[in-house]
Amino acid sequence: MAQLSDDCFAFSGPLMPVAEAERLIAERIAAVEGHDIAALGAATGRVLARDVVAPIDLPPFDNSAVDGYAVRAADLAGEGPTRLAIVDRVAAGHAADHALNAGEAIRIFTGAPMPEHADTVFMQEDCRVEDGAVVVPPGLKRGANRRLAGEDIRAGAVALPAGRRLAVQHVALAAALGLTEVEVRRRVRIALFSTGDEIVEPGMPLPRAALYDSNRYLLAGLAARFGAELTDLGILRDEPKTLARAIAAAALDHDLVLTSGGVSTGEADHVRAAIESIGRIVFWRLAIKPGRPVAMGVIRGGNSGEGAAFVGVPGNPVAAFVTFVRMVRPLVLRLAGALPEPLVALPARAAFSYKKRKGRREYVRVALRAAPDGGIAAFKHPQDGAGVLTSLTETDGLAELSEEVTVVEPGATIGFLPYASLIG
Ligand code: AMP
Ligand code: MG
Repeated sequence: MAQLSDDCFAFSGPLMPVAEAERLIAERIAAVEGHDIAALGAATGRVLARDVVAPIDLPPFDNSAVDGYAVRAADLAGEGPTRLAIVDRVAAGHAADHALNAGEAIRIFTGAPMPEHADTVFMQEDCRVEDGAVVVPPGLKRGANRRLAGEDIRAGAVALPAGRRLAVQHVALAAALGLTEVEVRRRVRIALFSTGDEIVEPGMPLPRAALYDSNRYLLAGLAARFGAELTDLGILRDEPKTLARAIAAAALDHDLVLTSGGVSTGEADHVRAAIESIGRIVFWRLAIKPGRPVAMGVIRGGNSGEGAAFVGVPGNPVAAFVTFVRMVRPLVLRLAGALPEPLVALPARAAFSYKKRKGRREYVRVALRAAPDGGIAAFKHPQDGAGVLTSLTETDGLAELSEEVTVVEPGATIGFLPYASLIG
């Protein structure tokens, strides 16, 4: 259960800098404790609970990296070509019967074990075969085209560290080492609500002044990408007691209660008050745009008595997305016991001008496109509104403008965060 300790996280200033919020998350959130055994086929997205130590060398034996002829480098003439007798043939999955003697070569295929005494392999394209012999050119280094046992990883070495969130390549490595299952942390349990009297489930009739709920689909999808076990608890009305009751109940058996909407300062924004009645707000205004009203806190109770973490992201879908990737993502990774996965913004060239206020981190939705003068540049979406979903669907990522930046001119280098890196 819950991991935010309920003590000192108070923040007195009006807007908390993003880095400070990240520091609090890193310091105050502990990983869930339960472990599961995951079959390899179902392990993608899970977080390793223990180091995976290689039980065997990879590759397990010296083998050829190409189709060609295995030789002894000592037999090769310094200058011109060398003629060697072909004495055997060895394909992948078979061993050569023959140890190489002086003046001999063995026909070999990719992945086949290196014959005894052979140390070098010529690619077949570089060889000429005549009368049971192969003529190889000069100039190949000893050891060329040979893969050594353990060159990928040695038996006994840590192949994957505890805390690694398993992507397909990590699962592939575990498979290459012969493992059939891995010990992982249990999944983070997230309870998800939307809030708002105007919010309606897709598929229902749309009354006047109502909007279909997109945030629950956005946030549920994001939570799934980070390996969480999600309980979708639907839409809550803007009513303080209902909110408090539903959130407190969800906190009993979840690690994180995630809501959207209702966290700004409007009269119908009751989420903050609800949290204050059942727990404690850690911060609720972040120096970030879009997404300034984002509440983070802890809800009392829960099985362990420690409480569940709470995050209330803003209702505007783009603000919900940005605050998820900046705040909820690191929080979920911490809860999951994952190693930190810092977001690395790639340098990109701005094709737009932009003015912003100092002291606030801003995220501008941009598309990468060919620039008129050649190369690729980041084009800002024409619509800035935090509620404009098409500004997310028609772009490739976020330009991250730091607190100090006040203007961006065309041609400036900006940090670009591709959506692919933010959502997975
Ligand atoms: P709020 O943060 O509750 O003040 O909401 C800000 C804006 O986001 C309002 O225009 C809401 O109608 C809209 N909004 C709130 N929740 C959702 C949702 N689940 N899906 C789509 N839009 C929403
Ligand atoms: Mg609302």
